[in-house]
Amino acid sequence: MQNAVQNWEVLERFVPLTPEERLGCIQTQKLFRLRLTPYVLSLVDAGHPHCPIRRQAIPLPQEVGQGEGELEDPLGEEKYRPVEALVHRYADRALLLCTDSCPMYCRHCTRRRLTRGGRPLGEGAWAQALEYIAARPGIREVILSGGEPGLLSDEVLGGLLGRLRAIAHVEVIRLGTRVPVTLPMRITRPFARLLRRHAPLFVITHFNHPKEVTPEAARACSLLVDAGVPVENQAVLLRGINSSVRILEALFVACLRMRVRPYYLHQMDLAQGTWHLRTPLRFGLEAMEALSGRVSGLAMPAFAVDLPGGGGKVRLGPEAVVSWEGGHTVLKNHEGHHYIYPEPPEADCHCPYEEI
Ligand SMILES: *Cc1c(COP(=O)(O)O)cnc(C)c1O
Repeated sequence: MQNAVQNWEVLERFVPLTPEERLGCIQTQKLFRLRLTPYVLSLVDAGHPHCPIRRQAIPLPQEVGQGEGELEDPLGEEKYRPVEALVHRYADRALLLCTDSCPMYCRHCTRRRLTRGGRPLGEGAWAQALEYIAARPGIREVILSGGEPGLLSDEVLGGLLGRLRAIAHVEVIRLGTRVPVTLPMRITRPFARLLRRHAPLFVITHFNHPKEVTPEAARACSLLVDAGVPVENQAVLLRGINSSVRILEALFVACLRMRVRPYYLHQMDLAQGTWHLRTPLRFGLEAMEALSGRVSGLAMPAFAVDLPGGGGKVRLGPEAVVSWEGGHTVLKNHEGHHYIYPEPPEADCHCPYEEI
């Protein structure tokens, strides 16, 4: 972290920037932070301006613009933010904003309004959030997000996890972290053991391209899984970076090989200055349909779009149901062939034994 590159002058010593990249860096200086760890820099293809690592880490001038419908708060989170460090959008889950900084600032960041810097979230904000959670027994799951929770020291993160675990109704904890991709050496054996102690705790990470699946990243994920911490992946569909069935297939299969289960493939949110990275919805749907015939079901994430203005996540699938009429339903498979699914004679699905 101490050796991370945070301005274009230093960056240029390691990567010959294209004129667009240099302009992008200069024009976004006041808009959104720039940071690449030496590890991320080591993955950058210095000879190729379309390198997927580079395109996620180094800004282009397009980022200064604003695409149609793009919003400061693309997911409408502010109206579901009862206290500073908490987004409570779904009844049983709450998202805790742990920190406002990251080892690498992704150019597609959806919470850039928070990770832009300025108001760090600390002890005071966490205490308020924990109090809010403790007072609401309906919250069964807490998602630690940010910013990058992996930037907290083991001691501080352990303290926070301990305080969450002290709330009896918090059953599941999720840690949203990109350190396996941006700073894999952060995942140490003590860190993995710390997370394991707070089971059930799921790590959700963020690999977007098979080029990010390096021996270092695989080692970080193995440390977690071997310690007994399940790891899943949320990828974001990025135009020109991973918007290819072949790349997505390689990504999901590579994740599975690391025992990282693909969880979501996200349609790019309507965050400001990300229009050049957004794919048409149709692309994602067609890619999922193509993939469903090619890869293991274990490697298939759900394709989801988080609706602008606070509508929440919606999973999109190629419409499998062709018709419902009569006693049978007609379904379409990945090859487009129709199959009749005979429906059972009884449609009453209530369970007489209701005690759990
Ligand atoms: C995505 C998200 C969640 C988690 O949703 P899942 O579908 O359970 O993964 C929770 N809270 C917020 C605010 C979210 O954006």
